[in-house]
Amino acid sequence: MRRLEFIGLTAVVAGGIVAPQGIRVRRDVVAMGTQLQMDVVAGSRSRALSATEDVYQVVLQADSLLSTWHPSQLDSLNHAAPGDPMALPSGLATLLGEVLPWRDSTGGAFEPVSGALTDAWDLHGEGRVPLPTELQAALGSSGPGAMTIADGVGVRTRSGAWLDSGAFGKGAALRAAQRALLADSVDAALLDFGGQLLAIGAPANARGWTVAIADPQDRSRPAVRLLLCDVSASTSAQSERFVTVDGSRYGHILDPRSGRPVPAWGSVTVIAADPLLADIVSTALFVMGPEQGLAWANRHPALGAVFLVGDSSRLRVHASIGAEQFILRP
Ligand code: AMP
Ligand code: MG
Repeated sequence: MRRLEFIGLTAVVAGGIVAPQGIRVRRDVVAMGTQLQMDVVAGSRSRALSATEDVYQVVLQADSLLSTWHPSQLDSLNHAAPGDPMALPSGLATLLGEVLPWRDSTGGAFEPVSGALTDAWDLHGEGRVPLPTELQAALGSSGPGAMTIADGVGVRTRSGAWLDSGAFGKGAALRAAQRALLADSVDAALLDFGGQLLAIGAPANARGWTVAIADPQDRSRPAVRLLLCDVSASTSAQSERFVTVDGSRYGHILDPRSGRPVPAWGSVTVIAADPLLADIVSTALFVMGPEQGLAWANRHPALGAVFLVGDSSRLRVHASIGAEQFILRP
């Protein structure tokens, strides 16, 4: 009997416990403030278990690099005195050097130096609507001019500026997890890290891991089924994390150009071989919206994007050229 389980915006159809090609181990931990569910198939129980431990350890390392909730290397930069250059540890400098160019590649839709906007809307608290002057000040403390990072040195040029790893931290952690699992030569694995999936290989007698993207407004309802093998799938939506002010909902994904939360139009799932890329691009495409986002994704067929638009009664699915190969039709 197959089991349908919902995890974040995705669901996983799990098979038996012991797969013919190896022993299948399931382990759940809490890391980076969210649940990490690991399903690993390896030649023996001890190898599968030690692979889950290796994953857990690299995820903890990613957290000590990128957390903005407790002390980390990034947190030190975010609290540096404005104007004071800070030498960045090489791992952080390399990662940010890879991440930051995506702001240009996405026309400014992806902007990690957007913490001042999150503060202005109090998205990590009760929520509030900023006054126009406050919004302008927060926009001034956001974007490339508010924090410069070059040649291994970071400078907060504006007070109030901070770099938010929310849109790429889980992807960075899953990339490290992917490397760990491959180094451990596991037969297959499926990780679900707070809604971002990493699929390695396939369970026994399958071509990949069957997962479902949930209806963004009714997470108990699977909307689209995907078959994933050696890729990561990251979903961005406003339906899970938001604040409510005077009866209006404001989601956690901001348009860095207007400084305002993006309306809750649905969800986008990005499928890519690199988990970091999937995470960055899913946030960016959510900001672009389904029309511009689909056009952008079609110009980048090496990755796939599935847009779910509208409400449960009339949910429309738009898949980019690169996504077609992953979609399971009924
Ligand atoms: P995700 O769930 O991967 O789409 O990331 C959303 C998180 O990224 C938010 O909770 C913020 O921490 C941060 N964020 C919000 N808007 C943006 C944006 N336009 N660019 C980069 N990071 C953002
Ligand atoms: Mg993201």
